[in-house]
Amino acid sequence: MDAIQKEHEKVWNSAKLSRTPGHVDDIIRSLQRARDAIAEDPNSRQITLAKLQNPVKTSFDGIFAGLKETHGQHNKYSKALDKIFKDKVPSNEIDALSAHPRLINRAIYLHLLREGLFDVASTLHSEAVERQRNQQETAAQLGLDVLMDHPLGLEKSAEESMQEQFSNMYHILSELKDNHNLQPAIEWARENAAALEARGSNLEFELCRLQFVNLFLDHRDEDRYEFDAPMRALQYAQVEFQSFRGRYLIEIQQLLGAIPFCSNLEESPYSIRFSNPTTWDEVATLFTREFCSLLELSADSPLYVAATAGAIALPTLLKLQTIQKQKRTEWTSQNELPVETPLPPSYQFHSIFVCPVSKEQTTDQNPPMMLPCCHVIAQESLQKLSKGSKFKCPYCPVESHPKEAMRVFL
Ligand SMILES: [Zn+2]
Repeated sequence: MDAIQKEHEKVWNSAKLSRTPGHVDDIIRSLQRARDAIAEDPNSRQITLAKLQNPVKTSFDGIFAGLKETHGQHNKYSKALDKIFKDKVPSNEIDALSAHPRLINRAIYLHLLREGLFDVASTLHSEAVERQRNQQETAAQLGLDVLMDHPLGLEKSAEESMQEQFSNMYHILSELKDNHNLQPAIEWARENAAALEARGSNLEFELCRLQFVNLFLDHRDEDRYEFDAPMRALQYAQVEFQSFRGRYLIEIQQLLGAIPFCSNLEESPYSIRFSNPTTWDEVATLFTREFCSLLELSADSPLYVAATAGAIALPTLLKLQTIQKQKRTEWTSQNELPVETPLPPSYQFHSIFVCPVSKEQTTDQNPPMMLPCCHVIAQESLQKLSKGSKFKCPYCPVESHPKEAMRVFL
C-alpha cells in the first residue's frame, strides 16, 4: 500500500507544480497580442507572425515535456495499482449497480456537497445533465421517444435547497472546527430549537457547555487576574444557561462548581469536564448528525459508508470467489450471500430475517409477515401454506386467514 501512496503523492505533487497550464496561457496571450497588433496595423502582419514563431515553439516544447513527464508518472502509478490489485478484484461478478447510474451519481453528488466541494459537485451535476441531453437528442434522431428523469434523481428546487443547506452546514462546521467559533452553530441550534427538541436532541446545550469551557480556559494577554477568564464564563452562564436549568441542572452545577478551583483545575473533581481533547470533534459530529437528520439524511455519507463496508467485506468476498472457482460451484441466489459479511455494529442498519419455513432470507419482494399468533414467516411461505384461505400456523395451533397477517419492518 505504501508504494501506491508514494506514486499517488508524486502524481499529485507534479500536478500541483505543473507548468503546463502556464505555457498554454503564454501561447494564448501571444496569439491575442499578435491578433490585436495585426488588427491595428495590417501591414505588420508578416513581421508579427515571424516574431510569434519562437516563443510559441518554446511554449509548445514546454507543454510536451510536461505531458511526457505526467504520462510517465501515470504509468508508474497504474503499475503500482496493478501490482496490488490485479487479479484480486472480482472481475466477472455481476455489477448490481450498473443499472442504476442515477443512484451512483446522486451518492457522489451528495458526498461532494457534504465535503464542502461545491464547485466539483456543481460540475458533476452539469455534466450529468449535459450527458442526458445528448442521450435524449440521439434518441430523438433515431425517432425514439424517451422521457428521462433527472440524472441525479433530484428535483431542481430540492437540489438547489440541498446545495444551500450543505453550504450552510459546511460554513458552520468550518467555523467550529477550524476557528473554534461556536456562535454560528449555536444560532443554528436556536433557529431549529423546536425540531431538535422534538428529536430529544441535546445539541444546543452541548454547544453552550463547550462555549462555557472555552471561555473558562481562554486566558487573554490583557487579563489582570487569573479569575478573569472564569468570570467571563460565569457571566456567560448567567445569561445563557437559564433555559437549560430544568433538564441539565447537574451538568450546570458541575461547570459552575469548577470556578473556585480555577487555579488548580487538574486536581479538582471537575477536571474531566475541562480537559477532554476530543470534545470539539464530538460536538462537530453531533452537530453534523443533527443537521443531517433535520434534512432527513443519514449522519454519515452513504457513499463513504458503502465504500468502507465494501473495503471491510472485500477479503471475505475474494476468499469466497476463490473457493467457488476451486470447487467450480456457483451461488445463484441474487439477494443473499452464502457467507456472513463481517461488518462492525455501526454498519449494520437492519436485521436480516430468514424464514423458518423456506430457510430463505426475506427481501422487499418477499417480506416477513407476522401471523395473529405472533409467529413470523416469509410472504411466499404464507401464500404456499394458506393458498388464500384459512390455515394453521406451522409453529402453533392457532388458525388464521392470510389477510390477518401483517408485514414486519426490520
Ligand atoms: Zn403461531
